[in-house]
Amino acid sequence: MYNPAFSHIYIEKEIITHPNTTRILSGFPGSRKIEIARYMDVFSRSGQDFVMQKRSPSLILAKKYDNFIYKGAPVCQDFGNHHFYYATLVMNCIYDCEYCFLQGMYPSANIVIFVNLEDYFSSVEKMLEKHPVYLCLSYDTDLMALEHKTGYVREWVSFAGQHQDLVIEVRTKSASIKAVKSLPPLENVILAWTLTPDTVQKNHEHNTPPLQQRISCIKEAVNRGFRVRICFDPLIYSKDWLSSFSEMVDTVFAEVPADRIIDAGLGVFRISRDYLKRMRKNRPGSAITQYPYEYDNGVYHYGRKLSGSMTESARDIISKYIPYEKIYIWKEAEGR
Ligand code: SF4
Repeated sequence: MYNPAFSHIYIEKEIITHPNTTRILSGFPGSRKIEIARYMDVFSRSGQDFVMQKRSPSLILAKKYDNFIYKGAPVCQDFGNHHFYYATLVMNCIYDCEYCFLQGMYPSANIVIFVNLEDYFSSVEKMLEKHPVYLCLSYDTDLMALEHKTGYVREWVSFAGQHQDLVIEVRTKSASIKAVKSLPPLENVILAWTLTPDTVQKNHEHNTPPLQQRISCIKEAVNRGFRVRICFDPLIYSKDWLSSFSEMVDTVFAEVPADRIIDAGLGVFRISRDYLKRMRKNRPGSAITQYPYEYDNGVYHYGRKLSGSMTESARDIISKYIPYEKIYIWKEAEGR
């Protein structure tokens, strides 16, 4: 009933001859190519069904004209970095996590790739003239999961290699050892893996690699000398979340040498009001979207008591392996 993913590729006329367009299209020889004026004509149409589109997304290649770099949002962790920014290189993700904020943010599940990386690079270089930059590249997508099609992580690692005051973080749930092997490990490049217990991955993170495969990829990255971060974020509540979480952390550090992990992130699930409204409509049967969250300051969360106890318990478990001062916590009370 459904077309395969990326059976249709929409390409803005303006960037049809851009080298990144040519390179990305070469990875989709059998797809139907359709020329369009602007990506919004397809991406922002009204009445789209996010969940249906997730089963068979189209690809859209576009040019970004402004806002190449954004200031880090308060609901995101800055890991102690003052000049914290993120870039949207791709909109949407090949994975399908039920808790993902993207389904509340975007009107479409189709994936938009901006091809004009050179404009992002110029924008970062202008910022670097004023101060160092900590830049997260994989917030509105999973960039590493698309690496075999885009090569964008490799391009950014190469750019970081020429700019010592730039630190980039690439966060992922992917498990492509091949992609990791293709990158040089640099001091100012952080590869960050998000890990969740098996039950969360199986039930709520559709299409993502299982925990064990992510662990194997982390081991490869560590062995190759990468700076690796582990993100236990979001923590998803269930009756047995604590035992699942504890078992996962023990499994991870039975295989990954903890002293080679630079730090860890920790945060309970939280989501803005407007996003949750749309997510609840999209997924009426999801225990995650339909949970009776508490609300304040524009954000839904588990409530201070439960969030606090989950955070403290999780931190105690992680601290068996990672020193307290290297565990960065998102605290809802402080909005950071
Ligand atoms: S991997 Fe991240 S970006 Fe992709 S669907 Fe899951 S939460 Fe969203």
